[in-house]
Amino acid sequence: MECAIKIRGETRMDDASPVGGNQTLDFDPDALREKYRLERDKRLREDGEAQYVELAGEFAHYAEDDPYADPNFTRAPLNDEVEVAIIGGGFSGLLAAARLREAGVDDFRIIEAGGDFGGTWYWNRYPGAQCDIESYCYLPLLEELGYIPKEKYSYSSEIFEHSQRVGKAHSLYDQACFQTRVNSLRWDEGLKRWRIATNRGDDMKARFVIMALGTASRAKLPGIPGIETFEGHSFHTSRWDYDYTGGDTTGGLTKLADKKVAIIGTGATAIQCVPYVGQYAEHLYVFQRTPSSVDLRGNKPTDEDWAKTLEPGWQRARRHNFAAVLEGKPFDEDLVNDGWTDIFRSLAAGVKDAVARGETLTPEAAGRYAELGDFMKMNKIRARVDETVKNPDAAEALKPWYRQFCKRPTFNDEFLPTFNRPNVTLVDVSEAKGVERITKTGVVANGVEYPVDCIIYASGFEISTAFKRRIGFEITGRDGLSLYDYYKDGFRTLHGHSSRNFPNWFYIGVGQNGLSVNMTAMFDDQAQHIAYIIKEARARQALTVEPTEAAEEAWVEVIRSVAVLNRDFQNACTPGYYNNEGGERSGGLNGQTFTPGINRFNEILAEWRATGELEGLELRRD
Ligand code: NDP
Repeated sequence: MECAIKIRGETRMDDASPVGGNQTLDFDPDALREKYRLERDKRLREDGEAQYVELAGEFAHYAEDDPYADPNFTRAPLNDEVEVAIIGGGFSGLLAAARLREAGVDDFRIIEAGGDFGGTWYWNRYPGAQCDIESYCYLPLLEELGYIPKEKYSYSSEIFEHSQRVGKAHSLYDQACFQTRVNSLRWDEGLKRWRIATNRGDDMKARFVIMALGTASRAKLPGIPGIETFEGHSFHTSRWDYDYTGGDTTGGLTKLADKKVAIIGTGATAIQCVPYVGQYAEHLYVFQRTPSSVDLRGNKPTDEDWAKTLEPGWQRARRHNFAAVLEGKPFDEDLVNDGWTDIFRSLAAGVKDAVARGETLTPEAAGRYAELGDFMKMNKIRARVDETVKNPDAAEALKPWYRQFCKRPTFNDEFLPTFNRPNVTLVDVSEAKGVERITKTGVVANGVEYPVDCIIYASGFEISTAFKRRIGFEITGRDGLSLYDYYKDGFRTLHGHSSRNFPNWFYIGVGQNGLSVNMTAMFDDQAQHIAYIIKEARARQALTVEPTEAAEEAWVEVIRSVAVLNRDFQNACTPGYYNNEGGERSGGLNGQTFTPGINRFNEILAEWRATGELEGLELRRD
């Protein structure tokens, strides 16, 4: 298939155009591709993921200090037994509990490090924190609880309250162990139970374990030399210190009025909190290595008349529709119709038009259509920076030069205008591959020291680092096998949820499963599937359930076969946690997922459940 494309008026033959025909492009795709490559190469660091520091040892306090819980809390160690231990009380843990109850399993316990339910929404209470997926799709169990979020994108306090609502509605508070961190998980073959050791001296036993840790439960720091020498105040965004800043999640950070503040990082978190700090600090320095793609947010209050029209099954249908748009599958109407779906519609437009013209597309041609759609979308994102930011140097530095899904897209209407404030300075540290050093009194970047009173690390989480770093404790299966050794060449699972040699152990999260940016929907689907397996294993009087070797190997093969294209895409991306900082391991966060998408994945699981055969699982009674 060939069509003519005009680039700045000059016609040339190419084999892809986003809309086909004799389209005039106002940019040169080759030049843009080269610019992306240069910007990527500029940021590649030899130390890759190792540049980040785990919050352990001298840095442990950045994670362990809980500003919201009773520091004097104590309780006697537990040496008891439950049927199911759920590790994590965020949305995935809450959903696991709710779905277990539905399946008739009530003997479970939720073990949670925080002082309440909420997980990421318990910890991340920085000013401006908000879900960036439409709340009608994101907040779980809305229909079951008869709750409609107040706005299209809920702020953190509403989401945290919703976690509590789920906890109360399903009577989960009595079954939770808060302020308790798991130290290790060990399968006891003699007892056929998991042994759970915690920081409270517990030795709990559980027949089944559900890992529900979420993707952002462990914060990380940038490995900038001298962090430990800083004598001012510092904290990670996931432990916001309102005693220091004043105010709350809605603003009012008045104690910063006489403070010079540094924010290090410009990912999805910084995009949301920078406007608040910029509004209140005497001076804010934002240290940026790679700019985020910042699109329109356009939040709005919920239309009550619309809410009244919602019919039973609406939330599942809406989530399905959202996923279909994001996967480029046919849909009648884009129900969510927001920045996320706009990106995917833009990327899919060329392919859709070509198909409508009757063209038969090779995967390569489809890929080039998508690339051109991506270039056009990112051109709009960059144009938005020029339209908003008055200082031309800052505007230039704030433009992202990479494809949309190299980094998480962000949506915010206040971030870019913040750089028009006289008290806000953008410090571009891209050439130096990051901040150079922290001193007793400030931040050194590009050879210049910026004296500050406070450093706020918006440096992200152990989302895609080595699995052990993400989990943070030992998991030992049959015959003393470490899960991390078992996964040393990548995940080995059946459908992402369980692994051979780790009987009665289930994982909710991102792995060899269909991935969705709407994490809570994905967690709910996984929780329902796991609850079904546990229910069936019990009904069949099985002591243990785990995948057969053959079934596990077959699923690993499926994942390998679908992950190839994704890996090429990731390797061409600017470094970040999506691609293991440009490293080759497994092609990044998405390199092991089921790329045909969450809807197809859920169909496979539904078909699997419908047979009632528990195919690929080995159930044992001895
Ligand atoms: P990220 O990992 O996205 O961002 C970390 C930031 O720190 C990056 O900008 C990174 O730069 C920067 N950085 C790291 N090291 C250095 C260094 N040495 N010098 C200068 N800068 C440095 O973390 P976030 O907390 O922003 O977001 C993590 C994820 O959490 C999101 O992607 C999203 O999945 C989730 N989230 C979701 C939200 C929601 O609305 N639902 C809101 C907030 C977060 P570089 O990019 O160059 O590596």
